[in-house]
Amino acid sequence: MRRTIFSVLCITAVFMASLCQGGLVLAATARVAPSAAQAGADGPTELTQLRWALHTDAVSGATKLRLVFDVSDAVEAAGKVVATPTPRFVVTVKGAVPGKNVKSLDMDGKIVDGVSISTVDGQNTKIVIDMPTMVEESNCRVFTLKKDLANNKPNRIVVDVEKPVPPMEFHFTPGLKDKVIVIDPGHGGSDPGAIGPTRIQEKDVNLAVALKVRELLERAGAEVIMTRRDDRDVFAPDASAVDELKARTTIANVRKADVFVSIHSNSSVSRAAGGTETFYYQKTRYDALLAQSLQAGMIEKGNLDDRGTASANFYVIKRTVMPASLVELGFVSNPDEEKRLADPQFEQRMARGIVDGLEDFFAKAAKQGGER
Ligand SMILES: [Zn+2]
Repeated sequence: MRRTIFSVLCITAVFMASLCQGGLVLAATARVAPSAAQAGADGPTELTQLRWALHTDAVSGATKLRLVFDVSDAVEAAGKVVATPTPRFVVTVKGAVPGKNVKSLDMDGKIVDGVSISTVDGQNTKIVIDMPTMVEESNCRVFTLKKDLANNKPNRIVVDVEKPVPPMEFHFTPGLKDKVIVIDPGHGGSDPGAIGPTRIQEKDVNLAVALKVRELLERAGAEVIMTRRDDRDVFAPDASAVDELKARTTIANVRKADVFVSIHSNSSVSRAAGGTETFYYQKTRYDALLAQSLQAGMIEKGNLDDRGTASANFYVIKRTVMPASLVELGFVSNPDEEKRLADPQFEQRMARGIVDGLEDFFAKAAKQGGER
């Protein structure tokens, strides 16, 4: 129900914002009922209404989200950027609580993932704006506007969030030395991932191979950043899937890694299903190339069936800003492959294949894009 009302507002807001590109976001000031301003006059100060609009700057091309809260009295609001474990802009409003019309929003992730609004200490409001990939101070601001009696407008808090522009141009050099490589062993802690016929857990296989990849890469002079080094959740035990995955992409985005490799093992209801497969999401010109290089390296060293590479809409490869791949080493659900995946010698060969693939990737990417 809330969603229906919300989408009507959304269409109105987008339409109005499109009328005023290059100017102020007029949609945010539309239709303020005078009564809204006085809603909390007799009780505690309240945030009485929330409106929002998307806006594209005609000059810079930057896309912005503007949130406008009406407030029943003048208040102070301050914001701060939180980069990890997931990127957020947190606004604190002192001495005012959210009224019944001010509810959290699910957004589509284009600029923000969502806006959650809560009461803190019974008298203040916390507004948390979840960002999809990264957030910097320069992307966010908050300010207040005083009551404007002449124009029948209440006190307001305005929050602007600009879509961060990730560095989509990469210029790679050949070789592994000094490359910043994020290795993400899939699952961990409270999340075992797939479980094989003899109870081998995917999270353990992924970690074992990832640690071997790290050792080989460090020996080659690369800087390796692990999303986890042992059996643990990256965000928190039993966290939502999105928080857990976003914590992993955030590590790569904050550290401005060159590439991101997520290591997984596959599973199927059919025990006969087997082979190695690599997924990518083509958001830079190098994602497919990275997947092909990794796949070729793993097939050469691991020698399982070649299931090839495929494009997929997976969170960790989509929400990282650098070229990224998700590899599926083999199937833990296949009894023969389960046995191999638990064998340290096979794990070492797969790790070697991944590292060979990375080396091949940087060589080819350097040729494609010109060296830095
Ligand atoms: Zn997995």
